[in-house]
Order: sequence, then structure tokens, then C-alpha cells
Amino acid sequence: MADDEILVVEDDDTIRRLLKISLRTEGYRVSEASTGAAALALVEANAPSLVLLDMGLPDCDGMDVLARVRAVGSTPVIVVTARTQDEQKVRALDAGADDYVVKPFSMAELFARIRVALRHRESERHGAALPAVFEVDGLRVDQDARAVTLDGEPVHLTPYEYRLLTVMVENRGKALTHRFIQSAVWGYPAADGYKTLRVIMASLRRKLGDKPATPRFIATEVGVGYRFVGE
Ligand code: CA
Repeated sequence: MADDEILVVEDDDTIRRLLKISLRTEGYRVSEASTGAAALALVEANAPSLVLLDMGLPDCDGMDVLARVRAVGSTPVIVVTARTQDEQKVRALDAGADDYVVKPFSMAELFARIRVALRHRESERHGAALPAVFEVDGLRVDQDARAVTLDGEPVHLTPYEYRLLTVMVENRGKALTHRFIQSAVWGYPAADGYKTLRVIMASLRRKLGDKPATPRFIATEVGVGYRFVGE
């Protein structure tokens, strides 16, 4: 982590300076850009470990920057959006952003998102899939036996519930869109506006004893999808 460089793309000088100081305090190296053009030049020149991308830039749409970063590699991108822009979050995630934060966000929240994105980059580099048996917060999954227990008690899942659970755990900590989850579980586009996904998700959460308001495992990302929050 000490070696990780984060490129902060933000046109608001005050916010950019605050981010720079906070990220440095956290141990990251920081480069900065206030326009999309400068950001793209730095992505090519410096190959940062992660890009923190404000979607409202003076010279171009943040989506254009995201598309260009994705076109040249797999650098994690966390987008920064305005509170009301659910549609923008979904578009950014479906276009390959790793996660998002909504202004105004806390530094603790941002650091957590950055750690998750960098951790996923590392596991992708090493081709690490889920181990045959894994345990998260009292939830134990034995992939060979397809057996799930919660706090030692067996949980009986249907095949789709089981696949949904493993997709969520594989991507734990990340916001996943309905579209992403749908294609990961079923492998083809939803014809029903994600109704089936919602029904199976509700059933899975019920079996995990998850309360939507205070989730232990799967949280709803309003207007976006879901996030596995168990550690
Ligand atoms: Ca801005």
C-alpha cells in the first residue's frame, strides 16, 4: 500500500487539496488533475494504482475519462457523484467503474472503498478465486459440498440463491449493479426488469436472517443494486 499512487481528478481546488492531504496522511502517494485531459495524460504517464474521478469536470464528461481509462487497462476507478445522480452511478459501474462515493462523503468511507478496490485489483492479478471453503462473519460456504452454514446452522439454498451468494461474496465490499449481478448469475440479460433477481435476493436475505435496514451481509444500494458488507 505504501507504494500505491492515487490520481485525484477533481476541478474543485478546495476538495482536491483536502483529498490530497488526507490520502497522503493515509500513506498513499498522490497525483492530481483538474481536467479530464490532464487526467488522461497522467494515467498514461504515471500508471497510478487507482483513479478517484469526479464526474463533473469542466472540459469533458467524467464518463469519457472513465471510458478512456478502461480502454487502456484495468486501473481501478472510483467515481465521485452528486447525491441525486443514481442513473450516473449505474452507468459508471456498468462502464467499468469499481465503485462510487457520493458527495459529501466521509474520508473513512472513501478510504474503505479504496482499500476494497485495491484488494480486488490484487486478487485479480493473482487470479485468486474464492477458496473451496470460505467463512465470512459466521457464514461458512463449502463450495465442493455446496453446503452453507450460518453460525453453525445449515442454510438450505436453491441453486440460484447459492450462485447469487457466491457472486456477492466474490465481490464483497463493492457496489454491484442489478445488471452485473444478473449477468453473473444467469449469464444473459434480464427480460423482466430484474424482478426475478429481486425475488431471489429477498429470499436469500431472509434465509441469511438479513434485515434490510441493518444488514449483516447484503445491503441495498438504492437505485443501483447491492453490496456484500460482511467482513
Ligand atoms: Ca466537479
